Amino acid sequence: MPYRSPVADILFSLSAIADLPALLGQGLLGDLDWDAVSSVIAEAGRFATEKIAPLNRIGDLKGASYENGVVTTPPGFADVYRQWSEAGWNGVSAPAEFGGMGLPHLVNVACTEIWNGASMGFALCPLLTEGAIGALKAYGSPELLGAYLPPMVSGRWTGTMNLTEPQAGSDLNAVKTRAERAEDGSYRLFGQKIFITHGEHDLAENIVHLVLARLPGAAPGTRGLSLFLAPKFIVNADGSLGARNDLRCAGIEHKLGIHASPTCVMVYGDSDGAKAWLVGEENRGLAAMFVMMNAARLAVGTQGVAIGDRAYQRALTYARERRQGRGPKGSDGMAAIIEHPDVQRMLMTMKANVQAARGICHVTGVSLDLADHARDEAERTAAANRAALLTPIAKAFSTDIGDETTSIGVQVHGGMGFIEETGAAQDMRDSRIAAIYEGANGIHAIDLVQRKLPLAGGETVNTEIAGIRAVARDVAARGGAGFGATAARLNEAADALEKTTRMMQSWLGGDQNSALSGASHYLRLFGLTLGGACLAKAGLAAEALAANGDRHELGRVGLARFFAEKVAVAAPGLAQAIASGGGAFEAYEAILAESA
Ligand SMILES: Cc1cc2nc3c(=O)[nH]c(=O)nc-3n(C[C@H](O)[C@H](O)[C@H](O)COP(=O)(O)OP(=O)(O)OC[C@H]3O[C@@H](n4cnc5c(N)ncnc54)[C@H](O)[C@@H]3O)c2cc1C
Repeated sequence: MPYRSPVADILFSLSAIADLPALLGQGLLGDLDWDAVSSVIAEAGRFATEKIAPLNRIGDLKGASYENGVVTTPPGFADVYRQWSEAGWNGVSAPAEFGGMGLPHLVNVACTEIWNGASMGFALCPLLTEGAIGALKAYGSPELLGAYLPPMVSGRWTGTMNLTEPQAGSDLNAVKTRAERAEDGSYRLFGQKIFITHGEHDLAENIVHLVLARLPGAAPGTRGLSLFLAPKFIVNADGSLGARNDLRCAGIEHKLGIHASPTCVMVYGDSDGAKAWLVGEENRGLAAMFVMMNAARLAVGTQGVAIGDRAYQRALTYARERRQGRGPKGSDGMAAIIEHPDVQRMLMTMKANVQAARGICHVTGVSLDLADHARDEAERTAAANRAALLTPIAKAFSTDIGDETTSIGVQVHGGMGFIEETGAAQDMRDSRIAAIYEGANGIHAIDLVQRKLPLAGGETVNTEIAGIRAVARDVAARGGAGFGATAARLNEAADALEKTTRMMQSWLGGDQNSALSGASHYLRLFGLTLGGACLAKAGLAAEALAANGDRHELGRVGLARFFAEKVAVAAPGLAQAIASGGGAFEAYEAILAESA
């Protein structure tokens, strides 16, 4: 099945769910207009469909390879990466002063989905580079910006994120990599990082590593971490590349999926130490790294959407072609499996979940733009808080959806789904990492409950719930019969979300165990409710178009109904699971004992 970037669906979501045209109409994003945004996204879709998507299979089969410190990407990757960066795609949202297109975050979110849908293994390298550009832009000295940003924005150099060490995964308190001050004002790094995406490769001339490390005498824990920039090749004063730095890739991992993306063990300081420069202030490294991590979290959320859409497209094609059993319509002979209601259930679940998750990523993206560009300070702060609230949901809900959707995709294919040739298995394998890296999803659920619910004294989450209720009211007031019980189910989900939000807030003051044990259920409940509102908004927009004579989008009304009546109905059950608190965990030692 030839994969096609879902350009029309993305544009509809940007318009109907994230209200991008209205934002552009207010002039908040300069003189950019909707036509220009549409052309950029259509062109990205064309490039991804024609050039990147054909690499996906070979990337899986050949994978990246390692020999004597050298990493070679699969055939075709370097050539397409060169074409992609020469076309300017690496700098979609990067500042124009450093050679980027300076487009809104939301357009970048759309493009990130497009690249990842075509091939996650290809798109990961730019995803990290983009995050590194953001961290440098926010915290780098003028000298670092001048030397590093232009080649990173153009894609000639790529970026990496070096947090993880064997003993420091979710818990960065345990980072041991050591930094020493050098006499010339630079630093030297010593230590080992693991799982570093594209830590070494043959796509670009230089690799810019952003590394968390600890200075002598620094406080224990994350308060003692500083962020450093360590290039693979030292950059001369005139911008040319000099000597190889004292850092190397000691090997790459053999993985379940994303075989094209080298996951590297990086060794810093075999001899005199890897030469590095401070980004931001000493001992304030985590704050700088958070800029990169936040950008990457939303981007990884879009990976879930992207791979889910890819799996849906594949399953739909197969379900139309594969014939088994008599159709319920009583047709003679074998029916295409799409005629069976259970297969329809699978396909509609895939599509509805993916579009709900896309909507959540898009409202998160537009909040980032409003945080930068809204007219007054209060609006900017509210938008920044909204982005902070929604980022863990965008990351964890969307990547869980990616896993579920790719798994259903295998199921739609029957036995052929288990056979590698169909590609459904690769989608499932590639998808699996997104719920793990950039903070495992369980950690994001805890972040949502512990750090995001208290934002603005609870006002941020209250506003979000009020927004969901407003959509339910709109559906009740002006939605057509095609919406079925959407308004009622959405209201029930909002009730469940509101009730559990209050519960979580009260537990945060004392019963941490109940709050922590319910966090993942709570994040899911939030995602389902917000996702339902996103789809309902899209359905209302489709009805408005139909009222003006364009009936092409009316399927979105049915999709919103399906999600509300068949998927989001899990919300009250999740609320019950949360309400029972930590009691069900009390006996965990006995339950998990060997003999139980
Ligand atoms: C392919 C790949 C690419 C990667 N790329 C990068 C990269 O570019 N840069 C980088 O720095 N790292 C990278 N990583 C590392 C990745 O971010 C970590 O694997 C991830 O953060 C989880 O850490 P861990 O593997 O040590 O798991 P652990 O921290 O050991 O967690 C294991 C499980 O325990 C749970 N858990 C742990 N602590 C808690 C807690 N306090 N409360 C509740 N649950 C908890 C987790 O949710 C998880 O389910 C990559 C990993 C892989 C596999």
